[in-house]
Amino acid sequence: MSKIDYVLNSIKERNPGEPEFHQAVLEVFDSIEPVLSKNSKYLEEKVFERMAEPERIITFRVCWTDDNNQIQVNRGYRVQMNGAMGPYKGGLRFHPSLNLSILKFLAFEQTFKNALTGLPLGAGKGGADFNPKHKSDREIMRFCQAWMLEAYRHIGHFTDIPAGDIGVGEKEIGYLFGAFKKIKNEFQGSITGKGPLWGGSFLRPEATGYGLVHFAEYMLAEVDKDLANKVCLVSGSGNVSQFAIEKLIHDKAKVVAFSDSTGFIHDEEGVDEEKLAFLKVLKNEKRESIAGYAEKYKSAKYYEGTEKRLWSIPAECAFPCATQNELDESDVQDLSKNGAILIAEGANMPLTDAAIKAVQHSNIIYAPGKAANAGGVAISGLEMTQNRLGRYWSRSRMETELRVIMQGIHENCQDTMKKYSLDAQDYLNAANIAGFERVAKAMVAQGSW
Ligand code: GLU
Repeated sequence: MSKIDYVLNSIKERNPGEPEFHQAVLEVFDSIEPVLSKNSKYLEEKVFERMAEPERIITFRVCWTDDNNQIQVNRGYRVQMNGAMGPYKGGLRFHPSLNLSILKFLAFEQTFKNALTGLPLGAGKGGADFNPKHKSDREIMRFCQAWMLEAYRHIGHFTDIPAGDIGVGEKEIGYLFGAFKKIKNEFQGSITGKGPLWGGSFLRPEATGYGLVHFAEYMLAEVDKDLANKVCLVSGSGNVSQFAIEKLIHDKAKVVAFSDSTGFIHDEEGVDEEKLAFLKVLKNEKRESIAGYAEKYKSAKYYEGTEKRLWSIPAECAFPCATQNELDESDVQDLSKNGAILIAEGANMPLTDAAIKAVQHSNIIYAPGKAANAGGVAISGLEMTQNRLGRYWSRSRMETELRVIMQGIHENCQDTMKKYSLDAQDYLNAANIAGFERVAKAMVAQGSW
């Protein structure tokens, strides 16, 4: 049996029924063979096997009362994946489909992503199988308070610092942070993604989407291209998508599509600043379907359901920013047939395993989320720094910091391609190797644990 099959089998046996986790672990393991063959210590110390086992998993009951005075029971989670580089760090996801497989894949990816930022951040992920859709503000508040009433004992600025993810935005962060402060009687940087008036950082809301577009700029510059006039597809319409669209508009690209869980919009004339402002109100304030966009703008067509695919629209650049496994093999074939040159992941693991293989057989340059979407957690890391210093840094300083960090990740990937003689523009293997090397070194130096 090959080493890869052996590890795949043992990971599957040890973690039955967790397909997303298997997928994420295998993808990284596939890449790091050249590092392991150079460093027998990593094999002896079973560094990879250790990384694939969370340091700690906390699951707990979360009970709260809804507006009809009915008791609701949910399951809360925090996966503390790897603490070698710093305190556990990563977002919270509130989604009815959430389970341990999804959380472990997210926490595993976070380990390498956080290492790539160059900041002292360990990795974790958490949340609940709570559906925030169609809940009143008071219900969301009661849920967040109930979640924190249990989780607070595992959280703190030197221990574990949660933030947002799908279903957790500034509102939820506010309720969670308020509950933590009340329980501990301490105002500390125990959560990031806070509002700018109460310990948050400038640019944190924009950071993932803006950072993604910076990364794409650096990728295109390597092949003597830029984003100006490029037709772009962005999936999703939440925080990451909105700010990716905003930055693409600044870069004079033409965004012709975005989506939500009900379907997608194709706007042939492209999204401009005014249309984006309308979309933000529709999604963030009214919390309605994107169908309203096509009612307002006649250049746009709304496609309900999943039968017709957003990725079948001819475009040069694709930014999957919705969720895991949203883009499959046939989508990559469509993109490639239509002449796409770039895919950069704003979401975590949006490409299926087969989609990644299809990309590798195409001419599309592709960046995995752990490199391309690291801007969000990077600015979270700098929010932690500001909280410890008791200072706010200016917006322009944060813009520079974000650019420098994304450039650093890009350079690290390019250097790794050369160091390990990878194919040109092989960001997938480069990001996995560069992230793994940092975490592995830190683990071994500390006695591996
Ligand atoms: N949830 C985001 C991610 O996937 C951000 C995490 C954070 O800011 O801690 O990286």
